[in-house]
Amino acid sequence: MEYRRLGKSGLKVSEIALGSWLTYGTVTEKERAIACVKQAYELGINHFDCANVYGAQPHAAEEVMQEALKPYARDSYVITTKAFWPVGDGPNDRGLSRKHIMAQVEKSLKALGVDYIDIFYFHRFDPDTDLEESLRALDDLITQGKVLYGGLSEWPADKIAAGVSLQKELQLHKFAASQPIYNMFERYIEQAVIPICEDAGIGQVVFSPLAQGVLTGKYRKGAQAPEGSRAATPGVNRFLEGRLTEDVLDKVEQLSAIATKAELSLPQLALAWVLRQPNVASALIGASRPEQVVENVKASGITLNEDILHDIEAVLA
Ligand code: NDP
Repeated sequence: MEYRRLGKSGLKVSEIALGSWLTYGTVTEKERAIACVKQAYELGINHFDCANVYGAQPHAAEEVMQEALKPYARDSYVITTKAFWPVGDGPNDRGLSRKHIMAQVEKSLKALGVDYIDIFYFHRFDPDTDLEESLRALDDLITQGKVLYGGLSEWPADKIAAGVSLQKELQLHKFAASQPIYNMFERYIEQAVIPICEDAGIGQVVFSPLAQGVLTGKYRKGAQAPEGSRAATPGVNRFLEGRLTEDVLDKVEQLSAIATKAELSLPQLALAWVLRQPNVASALIGASRPEQVVENVKASGITLNEDILHDIEAVLA
């Protein structure tokens, strides 16, 4: 496993990170979830991602992560979580108010069984809270030692720029991480997000690098989704709805041929492709089985040559 610096921070994270959305604390049984996390740690993954809303109920995925990481020294891994999405029906059960952020960090610390969170993300931009209020709350958490680094997830580029400039003006701790979607089919961050973040010293931790499993080649034109896969699992299959189109599956077939030519598996090609961007610190995968972790970590350290990159662009064009 190779490690990269997260933006201009001093934090080193594994090129492959493991997340818990739609898996741990919900459809993936606990023993298997723990086996995935252990497999990841043992193969050098030091970066694990949660959110307060992941799992069947708030903080459920964090509790599974606590159990899985218990055997390992706290300072040997990076654990992250987030707040923004609703965790209840109350008016303050969502968003980025100081009140909600502080309450959720306390609950996440407890669920994760840790004294500090390595990276705490604002899960989305909150138009209903003054940006300064959220940034000051994050700064206080960092000063208190409950959070080490701040991050944002899927903020529009102009909001990232506004946050960065306000942190500078108010002399607050700077964001270290941005967590957007990024894969061969979803590449909007190449336009403005990456340039702004590079400038501000923020590193990318990119989610769904395998397009939720579509870029593994296991979904095929005219075939049923494989048993046990996300597309075949009630409760989570809705997140793939409308994504397995003929056009996408045609492209996946062509990308599989490129992977074969490069002597790689398709997931390895897809992960090496997002990691070709120097601003990307980690490709944040999900895994429902330990074997998937074993397969995916092999993408670390692979450099795709110009011919392969050109062939990929021709398919995606
Ligand atoms: P991926 O694109 O990596 O998809 C992961 C899923 O693909 C797995 O759960 C598994 O699903 C399948 N898969 C993975 N590897 C293989 C393999 N080698 N062979 C076959 N199938 C494979 O990422 P996710 O969309 O799951 O997102 C990853 C993480 O990113 C999340 O856990 C979360 O931490 C974060 N995230 C953050 C968001 C945000 O708003 N900040 C939003 C979404 C995700 P299965 O076996 O069930 O088919």
